[in-house]
Amino acid sequence: MKWRIGDITVTRIVDMEEPHADGAFLMPDATREAVAAIDWLRPNFADEEGNIKMSFHAFVVETPSVTIMVDTCIGSDKDRGGGPMDKLKTPFLENLAAAGFSPEDIDVVLCTHLHIDHVGWNTRLVDGRWVPTFPKARYLMGRTEFDFWRDQEFDQLHQLVFDDSVRPVFEAGLVDLVETDHKICEEARLVSTPGHTPGHVSVELESKNERAFITGDMAHHPCQLAHPEWATNFDSDKSQSTDTRRRVFAELAGKPVLVLGTHFAEPTAGRIVRDGDAFRLKT
Ligand SMILES: [Zn+2]
Repeated sequence: MKWRIGDITVTRIVDMEEPHADGAFLMPDATREAVAAIDWLRPNFADEEGNIKMSFHAFVVETPSVTIMVDTCIGSDKDRGGGPMDKLKTPFLENLAAAGFSPEDIDVVLCTHLHIDHVGWNTRLVDGRWVPTFPKARYLMGRTEFDFWRDQEFDQLHQLVFDDSVRPVFEAGLVDLVETDHKICEEARLVSTPGHTPGHVSVELESKNERAFITGDMAHHPCQLAHPEWATNFDSDKSQSTDTRRRVFAELAGKPVLVLGTHFAEPTAGRIVRDGDAFRLKT
């Protein structure tokens, strides 16, 4: 899938699409019954039984000056201690090639945050070593986010993620630690959207008076537009993530801004409109 925003082209590169599943595993309040009550989610984002559908994908953002990859998904061959993302083989690089890009085409990699499913393709396994997948890219990571994970008493899973997907690009000298309002180029800048993680950022795009907004994990599923208070089990501060969702959705509602959801299933993008006390995605 591709979108045009003025002179910018955004292309969705899929790493993995999930089958429909009970959303309560991610958002405890998103039970089948509660999701089924939100009729506009069907058929793209939920099924008749109230199971939700999600996707793991990156966005390649081509601006007139730089080509940016926003988030790098889960990755291949990664030891994840036997969990559901353990030692996957995903067709991400094949999908990237099919979309017309080689890894060398990427000038900037932006990680919205440093979770397992946003840093995976930062590196790939070559002859038993983790090497940067995008050798010509600067990898941008939020300073707040990086410091949080570096100083964290890691559990084993986060230690594995940091060691195979963050540390190798840092040690290769490819990482720039940036502030949460960093301007990547004339058309793309970061905005602070904390709560899912302490240093989480989203991305604003603007060209020729057209605008788009890449969510990252400030929202995981369109059902959170109907219920901004539906925090996920992985939000580091659930009340802050809820405040962020309410604030950002209210800012975007009714505006001609294309919202691109980092985990939204196809069609992945739409505009936010008000719906009673909450919001809805118009695709
Ligand atoms: Zn995620």
